[in-house]
Amino acid sequence: MRIYKSSLTPDPIPEISIASYLYSQHDPIPPSSPAFVDADTGRTITREQLRVLSSELGWSMCNGLVKLGGAKLARGDTVAIFSPNCLAYPIAVHGCFMAGLRVTVANPSYKPAELAHQFKDSSAKVLFVHPTLLQMALSMFKVMKIGFKEVKRRIIILRYDVGAPGNSGFIQLEKLLGKGQLVLEEIFDGALSKETALICYSSGTTGKPKGVELMHTNLIAMCTILNQVNEIEHGKDRTLGFLPFYHIYGAVLLLQFFFKKGIPVIVMERFDAVEFLKNIEKYRITFATCVPPIMVILARHPAATTFNLTSLKLLMCGAAPLSASLQHAVKARLDSIGVKAPIVQAYGMTEAAPSIHFYGTQDAERKVGAVGKLLAGMEARLVLEDGITDAGEGQQGELWVRGPIVMKGYLNNPSATKECLLEDGWLKTGDIATVDDEGYFRIVDRRKELIKYKAFQAELEGVLLEHPEIADAGVVGVYSDTEATELPRAYVVHLKGLRTNKEKAEFGKQVQEWMRSRVARHKYLRGGVVVIDVIPKSPSGKILRRELRERAKSEAIAL
Ligand code: AMP
Repeated sequence: MRIYKSSLTPDPIPEISIASYLYSQHDPIPPSSPAFVDADTGRTITREQLRVLSSELGWSMCNGLVKLGGAKLARGDTVAIFSPNCLAYPIAVHGCFMAGLRVTVANPSYKPAELAHQFKDSSAKVLFVHPTLLQMALSMFKVMKIGFKEVKRRIIILRYDVGAPGNSGFIQLEKLLGKGQLVLEEIFDGALSKETALICYSSGTTGKPKGVELMHTNLIAMCTILNQVNEIEHGKDRTLGFLPFYHIYGAVLLLQFFFKKGIPVIVMERFDAVEFLKNIEKYRITFATCVPPIMVILARHPAATTFNLTSLKLLMCGAAPLSASLQHAVKARLDSIGVKAPIVQAYGMTEAAPSIHFYGTQDAERKVGAVGKLLAGMEARLVLEDGITDAGEGQQGELWVRGPIVMKGYLNNPSATKECLLEDGWLKTGDIATVDDEGYFRIVDRRKELIKYKAFQAELEGVLLEHPEIADAGVVGVYSDTEATELPRAYVVHLKGLRTNKEKAEFGKQVQEWMRSRVARHKYLRGGVVVIDVIPKSPSGKILRRELRERAKSEAIAL
């Protein structure tokens, strides 16, 4: 077996709860340092304020102020959060961690059925809802056929701005504060630190989103491992929090790692290109965690040259493939406006909490296109299609990884877990990679079904098959250079068959509209809908995606 190992020795990973780790008594960072800052208003929560607020919320969650038909929330229960980024978000996540509750974070652009899937699948008891999403949350409970009386017990309005009018009749986050404080006991030490703390949803290699169970030790391991990367420092660096807190990058890097490291996160509720550039100037941002479409903004948006971006020290791009040409274009643009920030890539996935590879600034120019070296404590294999043989020198293979950040498994889904997580700890990523003689990996292709619009996963075939006139469907990603992302393109078979091109085109448009009413924005069929006679399949019934992708390439002109 050819195993690649990280050249870095990992620091010890304490077997404690994530809450005790984040709020260690030996924290070297001054409690008065800013932890989270609202980008629009400048309102700041310091580390000490966050500790107190989280512990107050945790106290109320544990002490029956949130009642479920008379019962209290119990340790190990799951609580869901449905909100865009906001200052109240870290309070909810840290407060629930302190109370020993599991947290699941949902995409704020979810439609009721998508949210219901996550709420039910995770067995969430309570939903923290941002005030702007209350109607959507109520529609979800309607889908679930839960009566209004019960719904009122299960919703907590996630708002932290004293004095604003509340949504009457629902529990307000602010009403749960100031009643008492939790004494942080170590309740997840030893073997219990392997219990689940965070559940993010990911399709993995195929199918509907599944709950990725991340243990306390996974989260601590991720923070410990990233802490060994010496590119950012407390007291010198600030980052912009625009990646959504519900996505693994936001949930772990922004809400946990940067907090632990003492790097203030300037929270943006929504991403907007000009606001992003403006905030870099306003807050003298030094470090930005980006995704490829943001690199397009830096390379091409006219506003990028009108703001002072010279505070930037490092740009890290991950979550989806970044082409070498785009990386060069960003570098050239930044050079032209006096920004000296190196650009590095990182690679990871929800199932690995998330970061597996990263590289230092010293190799930024030399290793363009690579996703980096293995982070401390990580091992990798490149395995051929037979699932047994290791790829030879210079050959490509499916990337398998092993290490302390690898998830426990998919929640209540042993068969999906078994498909990607082997008994000896190897996680099959579904990505095809190569490695060079210095240990730098490159992602060259994807074996799994995943389609990513920007950084977000889009799984659509199941939804399309619910359309009353669709007999079969296959969806593939078509790469758009201008947006540096894949666009989901659907191939559908009409139940009765359509004859003319006009009928087909009209039906395609109708399906696009129909989808818009059912799925989150990032899943819109921006790559088009094409009516065909039959979806190409293997004898075992698997969609031949490569064929559809080839077909899409030849049709790209029609996009
Ligand atoms: P997610 O779980 O949403 O973070 O998606 C994980 C998937 O995103 C990986 O399995 C890859 O297919 C893709 N991905 C993440 N980072 C990179 C990267 N730097 N280059 C290429 N693909 C990436």
